Amino acid sequence: MLYFVDYDKVTWHKFIWHKHYAIRFSSFAWLAVMKGLKTADILSERNIYINPICPLCEKEEESILHLFFQCDFSFEVLITLIPDAGNFLLRPTILQIFEFLDEIQRFNSNERNFSFLMICCLVYFIWRERNSRRFMQKKASPMVVLNLAASAIVLKSRRWKIWENFAASFPSCYIRQTGFQVDQTPATGL
Ligand SMILES: [Zn+2]
Repeated sequence: MLYFVDYDKVTWHKFIWHKHYAIRFSSFAWLAVMKGLKTADILSERNIYINPICPLCEKEEESILHLFFQCDFSFEVLITLIPDAGNFLLRPTILQIFEFLDEIQRFNSNERNFSFLMICCLVYFIWRERNSRRFMQKKASPMVVLNLAASAIVLKSRRWKIWENFAASFPSCYIRQTGFQVDQTPATGL
């Protein structure tokens, strides 16, 4: 069973600004955690009114908590990339996912940073899809968003010295790479 954590007592900066962070992805994750992304609820507090309905699921009202990851759309992307995230009793927040990944004992520091990078990257591509739908009326499916994120994650991680190990530890991410042969040995990671 997973429990909520008092995040005021933890330093969560390490989840976003770790050794192998990508500035583009980490910046958006930081903004999301700090409630700096201009969602409909935050804009309405400034007397700026846009359609309050989430453009991803088109059912619930848009907020940071909804987008990450109460929304059916973003939650589907999350649990496909990180199947263990489906074990939460309630749909997790960004910080709850970070904390969960941080406590997985089998991860070494590189795997842990890789998992943090996955979340930052997901936030970026989900936010990008939200903007695409809201401002350009262009819609991609959850699997398209997932594949975009997985490709970006793998591309970024290939600059790390031991990137080959990640394919076995994170098969749900690497299996999406066309032309990349995933090791068939039992996964030790997600
Ligand atoms: Zn939604």
